[in-house]
Amino acid sequence: MSKSYRHIFFDLDRTLWNFEENSKLVLQAIFQKFDLDKQIENESDFIQKYYYYNDFLWERYRNNSITKEQLRDERFKLTLEHFHITNTKMAFEMGDFYVSESPKQTALMPFAREILDYLDGKYKMHIITNGFEEVQHIKLNESNIRHYFEHLIFSEKVGVKKPHPLIFKRALKYSGARVTESLMIGDDYQADIYGAQRIKMDSVYYNFHKTPHTNAVDTEISCLSELMRIL
Ligand SMILES: [Mg+2]
Repeated sequence: MSKSYRHIFFDLDRTLWNFEENSKLVLQAIFQKFDLDKQIENESDFIQKYYYYNDFLWERYRNNSITKEQLRDERFKLTLEHFHITNTKMAFEMGDFYVSESPKQTALMPFAREILDYLDGKYKMHIITNGFEEVQHIKLNESNIRHYFEHLIFSEKVGVKKPHPLIFKRALKYSGARVTESLMIGDDYQADIYGAQRIKMDSVYYNFHKTPHTNAVDTEISCLSELMRIL
């Protein structure tokens, strides 16, 4: 990359903040707290099923088929029902616990802090996220990375989610950046990379799991430390 970038837009979840690790920690805590070992043999089965229903419901939320509240209420209810546990009250309590505890977790992706330190001062950095605004603030503060970023752009505030071009256009406007001097870095091909491509913003696809794909990408990395070679 020889272009002279001035602004870097980061996705947050699974790009900087280690969603999988943090989520697992809270689900393990839930398994203990609600004595699920009495009814579910294996903790990892519970976690696997939660992920399954959460992904399913997130897809529906992304397509605007369900609301944020429905997403939060249903994911534990469906998970428990899979194990033949019908307990709406407990599902609600789990949902509350998950929502209040998970953003307080502080695991970052490998080399996230190192790369932010490396880029700090060289570029203006911003966040563009589809995650819930109040939750994302807690994550940024608790994991002590808020200070690296000048502008935080939330889909909830803009009214559309990535990959909608409007959220990228707003991000440029708020940060006073030109598209030609901007770079988007994210882990989600559809939301982050295709989204950036739609407004002709350069992008780096962070493919942490090295998932095979045939999508056209400008630059692809599987470790954030690789950014030191290109920026
Ligand atoms: Mg992400």
